[in-house]
Amino acid sequence: MPDSQPRPPEGATADTTALLLRGARLADGRTVDVRIAGGHIEAVGTAGSLTAPGPRTSPVPRIELDGYLLLPAPAEPHAHSDTALTADAGPGPGPATTGAAPDIQRRAVEAALLQLGHGATALRSHVRIGDVQGLGAMEAVLQARRSLRGLTDLTTVAVPRLLTGVAGADGLAMLRDAVKMGATVVGGCPDLDPDPTGYAQAVLEVAAEHGCAVDLHTDGDDPARLARLAAMSGGLRPGVAIGPCGGLSRLPHDTAAHTAGRLAAAGITVICQPQGGCGGVERRGIAPVQLLRSAGVRIAAGSGALRDLTNPVGRGDPLEAAYLLSSQSGLRPKDAYGSVSSAPREAMGLPEVRVEAGFPAELLAVRGEQLSAALSLAYSRIVIHRGRVVARTNAVREYCDSTAPSTLELPRQGRADAGP
Ligand SMILES: [Zn+2]
Repeated sequence: MPDSQPRPPEGATADTTALLLRGARLADGRTVDVRIAGGHIEAVGTAGSLTAPGPRTSPVPRIELDGYLLLPAPAEPHAHSDTALTADAGPGPGPATTGAAPDIQRRAVEAALLQLGHGATALRSHVRIGDVQGLGAMEAVLQARRSLRGLTDLTTVAVPRLLTGVAGADGLAMLRDAVKMGATVVGGCPDLDPDPTGYAQAVLEVAAEHGCAVDLHTDGDDPARLARLAAMSGGLRPGVAIGPCGGLSRLPHDTAAHTAGRLAAAGITVICQPQGGCGGVERRGIAPVQLLRSAGVRIAAGSGALRDLTNPVGRGDPLEAAYLLSSQSGLRPKDAYGSVSSAPREAMGLPEVRVEAGFPAELLAVRGEQLSAALSLAYSRIVIHRGRVVARTNAVREYCDSTAPSTLELPRQGRADAGP
């Protein structure tokens, strides 16, 4: 079973930019070899047909992927690095400790490595700015981003508290400072401001000034407010995302469908949170994924809280989000997996990944023959980022022989995710 303390695998910093993956199953049923060089997929051929890349001084690593399904890696579009892993902080100094910059940086790294172990090689993290912490949490998460370089790509969303009225002037100045520091996305929670539309307007203006994407928290239960947002944000590049939008599920069907049509027309992505939500929105519930898809809205799924007070058992596993989209919202496994891989990559402005020559080598190998099986049981995973293996999880399950006198005898053994 996976270790609870994530660590990069040994040799993660070695020169392993060339790699040969052999005998991997693809989602379309083919079994192939995949040759990787320079962070990209160089060639894909029938199993046994490819050799290692060109002349090299050191042997090229090969990975036998017999029994593994090879997929484009997931991307995590909605994390909270500054509050992750605080649920078990317990009594003691409390916020004084969990809010200190070195602690935030340590937890941000640990959370990102946990999510990398699950397969997410890119991560968009919402970070609060303002109030007593000012820009301290943002600085700590940006420091974590630098220390994770080569392992995972972490981008930050600046989340100001108030942006209107007298207090809003400070928030606005701090938002601009956060963008200058390195936050690449402008976000926040408009519904918590006394003037939600004014808040959204301010966010869109700062984003337009700096060429940033926008990613806002909303429950989505106010159709008029969403319609105004759609009208204001149409055409903004590099794009607007909102989530988790569980409130859309509580609206009458026709109202929700009409609102979804407006979001689709404005090109707004909805980032739902099937695993339970986050601290940015009080109410829970999953967005009406089928209704939104029918209206043409792009849907991505994020994990939200990772073991903070909002969700002390949050796993941050994109495959769990995909599993829930399939089992709870009725998406086909292929579409559910797309919601945690291709859709978030597009929403995050990342290049598309396909297991084809020329595409970025951002890959996840999961033990299993089919996508449905991989979403059902996926303990064993190999994660590839920029053409290098950056995380590996091997699960082994052992069964006792019922006739054996001692539980120390363990004659049957197999992969935990291959079945008994
Ligand atoms: Zn959130």
